Amino acid sequence: MLIALSLSVWISPDAVYKEMGWELAKGNVNGGAIALGHPIGASGRRIPVTLLHEMHLYTRSHFMAESSGIGSTSNFSGPATDSLRGKVALVTGGSRGIGRAISLELARNGAAVAVNFVSNVAAAEAVLAEIRAMGGECLLVQGDVSKKEAARSVIGTILEAWKKIDILVNNAGITRDRTMKKMTDEDWEAVIAVNLNGTYYCTAAAMPAMIEQKYGRIINIASVVGETGAFGQSNYASSKGGIIAFTKCLALELAKEGITANVVAPGYTGTEMVGAMPPEVLDKICARIPLRRLAKPEEVAKAVLFLARDADYITGFTLDVNGGLYMP
Ligand code: NDP
Repeated sequence: MLIALSLSVWISPDAVYKEMGWELAKGNVNGGAIALGHPIGASGRRIPVTLLHEMHLYTRSHFMAESSGIGSTSNFSGPATDSLRGKVALVTGGSRGIGRAISLELARNGAAVAVNFVSNVAAAEAVLAEIRAMGGECLLVQGDVSKKEAARSVIGTILEAWKKIDILVNNAGITRDRTMKKMTDEDWEAVIAVNLNGTYYCTAAAMPAMIEQKYGRIINIASVVGETGAFGQSNYASSKGGIIAFTKCLALELAKEGITANVVAPGYTGTEMVGAMPPEVLDKICARIPLRRLAKPEEVAKAVLFLARDADYITGFTLDVNGGLYMP
């Protein structure tokens, strides 16, 4: 485990930023959690005081920072292609972080991309502008995927606009980290609602159209934590482990319909939240990763592209993108 949770006093991210002398403006607009022993960046809201002490203890080493991929916007490799031309994709939580990179990668390869988000309109509009600037088709679809009606309406909007849906990337996710001793029902329910229920609702709503067209690529974003478990993340790890099991069931049930279902399980990935962290903390994290750096969101996006475009005979699979942190 990365961080010992001996002093389990929870404080707000604002206080942490103040304590650490970080720029609040660089943080996650929704309040990001620095998860315990967990990939950083998924939205959350609390941070243990212990973490502050640990951070102060870290000494700066020569690992990373430049190589972390943080803040990178142009790490896509290879030329833009037309390989997904004619395909319609939905990326839930497609406006920021990993989801943003997936939206751009699919659009860069010709797919019409519906970008779902819940609250940050500016971030979503920025993705829309980027996709349009590359000559791609994009639709912004606001909606909280944890609410069944909203999730159905997201899918309905896409079907109304584009009459089909070929690629569904269930990426929207949040964290509410607490040990079981401190976990509230609300912490548990909020994470399961977005991560697992949201994945179920969007899949259930998109399935009929995919079955009718006898084609579909469902890619669910889990986490290394869904495979390993993590201290202080029983809710999050359960949601991600649930996603992996759910995907295997989908793969079994939908194979005969021409639909594949796979998982991408990222490890620590450079997002805006990571960019606000002191380099020495990043060094410590990266020292635990065999490849000695965070994943770039674009590297996770490439795995999604592979499963969406090139993996016709792969289903029920979990593709780990974790720098060797966990090898099943
Ligand atoms: P971010 O917090 O950077 O972005 C989350 C995205 O999800 C935003 O677009 C946000 O929209 C959207 N979102 C949040 N809640 C909802 C909701 N209820 N309905 C619809 N959209 C929602 O997250 P990351 O990019 O870091 O993480 C993306 C996925 O990858 C998550 O599933 C996460 O668990 C997983 N992951 C992340 C890792 C990491 O290290 N970053 C590692 C392993 C897995 P808005 O901007 O409007 O809030």
